[in-house]
Amino acid sequence: MHRGAFVGIQKFSEDFGKISGVCLTFLRKALYNKMYFVFGLFAGVPAISAAREKSMLTSICGINWGDEGKGKMVDLLSEDYDIVCRYQGGNNAGHTVINERGKFILNLLPSGILRENVVNVLGLGMVIDIKHLTEEANRLREKGVKITPENLKISDRAVITMPYHVLLDCLEEDRLAGKKFGSTRRGIAPVYADRYMKKAFRMGELLDPDRMYARVKEIVEWKNLTVEKGYGAAPVSVDETIDYLKTYGEPLREYICDTGLYLTNAAKAGKKIMFEAQLGALRDVDYGILPYTSSSLTIAAYAPIGAGVPNLKLDRSIGIMKAYSTCVGEGPFTAEYFGEKADELRAAGGEYGAATGRPRRVGPFDVVASSYGIRCQGADEVVLTKLDILSIYEEIEVCTAYELNGKIIHDFPYPDVLDECKPVFEKVKGWHCDISKCRKKEELPKEALDYIAFIEKACGCNITYVAVGAERDAVIKLK
Ligand code: GDP
Repeated sequence: MHRGAFVGIQKFSEDFGKISGVCLTFLRKALYNKMYFVFGLFAGVPAISAAREKSMLTSICGINWGDEGKGKMVDLLSEDYDIVCRYQGGNNAGHTVINERGKFILNLLPSGILRENVVNVLGLGMVIDIKHLTEEANRLREKGVKITPENLKISDRAVITMPYHVLLDCLEEDRLAGKKFGSTRRGIAPVYADRYMKKAFRMGELLDPDRMYARVKEIVEWKNLTVEKGYGAAPVSVDETIDYLKTYGEPLREYICDTGLYLTNAAKAGKKIMFEAQLGALRDVDYGILPYTSSSLTIAAYAPIGAGVPNLKLDRSIGIMKAYSTCVGEGPFTAEYFGEKADELRAAGGEYGAATGRPRRVGPFDVVASSYGIRCQGADEVVLTKLDILSIYEEIEVCTAYELNGKIIHDFPYPDVLDECKPVFEKVKGWHCDISKCRKKEELPKEALDYIAFIEKACGCNITYVAVGAERDAVIKLK
């Protein structure tokens, strides 16, 4: 109702402004600047809703362990945005997007690449495997997707994941054996470590190859102290490293720029910017379940920093949350299902990793972990995805608390004690029918709406959309 009031006032202001330039200026300012608050109050709604109408910077982040369906939602919502920007991580996870152009798996490229009018940015918080990027872009080009320096910009400050990072990742996981972290073996932890050691290569160095190649000798010598002398593996070759940078780095030169400057100017020009996260809150290197996390900051608050625009502030944080739980790799996963129960849910949800094909661990919705994820993401809106998968159940289990040392806890604990936590399950009535064709709230069965309301109340969040299928249009706007 408030939207209507807002649009009405705006329309009125524009008509009126045609008659009087002075009034137009005043009304525009009133609407778009501070006085939207006053109009919001007159309309009887919180001013925050009015602020949303003019929101410029939106983050789309994962509430859980990743694989929540962020790519699908970015693909859908990016229709209203000019720029989509990845701000962390590398090719260690994948977004699967299905739309009218086909099925796409994106590891490094932002999901906005599938929209003709969207400019895509790889921000400075990313670690970029240049061989993988080249191959991923070529696979998309073969399917007719346009990728040029006009619609893809790579930060000069983003770091390059080198083949020796991948090698070190594998050597360390193998050394850890039974105690491995569950790395995707894509070199992510070693390359982020080098970033903080200030010994990584940055994309911008490719613009001055002579200087860069001179540094290769120095860095490779240092790397071999670990590769050869530490792990006893064959040494990294200087010549092969330079050849690699020539083959995969040099063709990317025209895409490299100061994305911070680009985004700042875009924001000044009134462009709408969306930040697309990889993985979820529980995989964040600071807020997640260490050491079973990624090595980057997956949280929304990091988005402007990792994109290169610490000078800009987020207007809106949309958290993508799955209607049940999944987790790839090692580490505590309190609400986990095992045996037949797990097989049933995994098969229904098609839970196999997009980047690695690894079967995902599965379980029911976890209120404790998800509430923590919502808090970490500062999510003022939540999209509940894969609700259609729960159609298999007559009764749906939800993990509503943990039991720790005989006590019931509702707040997500310090990760080290998660191994001792046991899930407390509650049952909610299921709808047990196909909802994948529903496109309106009214078409959803009462039990599905009750499930959404249950989750909303238990997590204290605001669920604005539910997704009921992998396709772009399989989304229902609730509010
Ligand atoms: P992301 O990394 O968060 O984008 O998630 P992934 O792409 O790894 O995993 C999500 C998977 O679920 C993809 O295969 C999507 O196509 C699919 N998906 C997303 N939303 C829905 C939904 O509401 N229902 C169903 N059945 N599949 C969905």
